[in-house]
Amino acid sequence: MTDLLSDSRTDALIVGGGPAGLAAAIALRQRGIDCVVVDAMTPPIDKACGEGLMPDAISSLASLGLSIKEEDGFAFKGIRFANATHQVDAAFPEGHGIGVRRTRLHERLAQHAHDQGVRLRWDSRIRPVDHRTALINDKKTSFRWLIGADGQASSVRRWANLDHTLQKKLRYGFRRHYQITPWSDFVEVHWAAAGQLYITPVSADSVCVVFVTRDLQQDRTDILASFPEIAARLKEAPLLSQQRGAVSATRKLRQVTNETVALIGDASGSVDAVTGEGLAMSFRQAHALAAAIEAGSLEQYAIAHRRIGRLPHTMGSLMLTMDRWHSIEDRAIGALASAPELFRELLAVHLGTNSLLKFAFSRGPQFGWKLIS
Ligand SMILES: Cc1cc2nc3c(=O)[nH]c(=O)nc-3n(C[C@H](O)[C@H](O)[C@H](O)COP(=O)(O)OP(=O)(O)OC[C@H]3O[C@@H](n4cnc5c(N)ncnc54)[C@H](O)[C@@H]3O)c2cc1C
Repeated sequence: MTDLLSDSRTDALIVGGGPAGLAAAIALRQRGIDCVVVDAMTPPIDKACGEGLMPDAISSLASLGLSIKEEDGFAFKGIRFANATHQVDAAFPEGHGIGVRRTRLHERLAQHAHDQGVRLRWDSRIRPVDHRTALINDKKTSFRWLIGADGQASSVRRWANLDHTLQKKLRYGFRRHYQITPWSDFVEVHWAAAGQLYITPVSADSVCVVFVTRDLQQDRTDILASFPEIAARLKEAPLLSQQRGAVSATRKLRQVTNETVALIGDASGSVDAVTGEGLAMSFRQAHALAAAIEAGSLEQYAIAHRRIGRLPHTMGSLMLTMDRWHSIEDRAIGALASAPELFRELLAVHLGTNSLLKFAFSRGPQFGWKLIS
């Protein structure tokens, strides 16, 4: 997927060809802006992920011209929360989600970027020279904008002095795939004192299982240890992938831009994996970044970036409170199980189709009473 065009000049040089970098490149091409994407790896690039695309992620991708279909994975209709004593689920207010193997998602994004005329440089090294020039595999390339889409440990963030962090909380995720017919068309989030287990159906005969914990002392050779019911279900199921780990970070940066550099995706800060919103946020940021570059104002992107992150960060901190305090988690899931309409409305808030403020005013007292009674 390379072409013979020279890299010696481009409008936007994007470091990182993961979902965020590719989405940004596609959004730029939609506006006729030239761009080069450089990634150190070769596609399809895998990563530990829950692999659930929420309905808002699917519609963001559709507006980038990429239609993710049921054939790419497995459609799910909502979210289920469960712990040892309670269970509650809710369907999405509109549309459905799709569980998609990370490698499949990357393949589709990379092909679409190529089709839109993005110049893709895989297996490539990049070194900055100054604020307008970099070396790609030792070849000089000049650019107007440098986009850091290089993930949690972003080098661009460091080069551009954008590392000043307002908030940082780390958890750790471990992912496996099992060959089994999905037993549910919900993404299941199982809660225990040790952390959460997410189960996403990703095909007619496989599920993605991720354990996320704040405690690195947990035995990661047995990620099902705290979930005996799921362990029994998966006992005979063959493993389809090697276990992969990744950091799940809640990170807020003071700034995501300077005059010529913008950060996007996990490089620009992130929400915990429990929100399932990392990909959707990256795709929304991609649209905002392309609009800002077209307008010649990265400040416009900085404002949009704050707006895009506000709700996922709020929902993330509510869920991390449940993670930290097992008694709150148990009471919250118990309260939602006894009034499933509250869970349905909270899911609508999470997806941005219902306002948090409206929920707090109209349902807060009922939820609060259920929590304490
Ligand atoms: C355990 C876990 C579960 C998750 N589950 C979900 C989920 O179910 N749904 C969801 O929406 N989100 C989920 N997320 C979040 C989601 O995975 C991330 O938000 C998403 O991967 C961010 O994409 P990105 O392109 O910013 O970063 P990445 O996917 O990390 O891509 C960064 C790219 O940059 C490249 N790179 C890095 N450094 C350099 C360099 N110096 N030079 C060149 N290339 C470089 C890397 O090779 C990589 O390809 C989960 C995250 C975790 C940790």
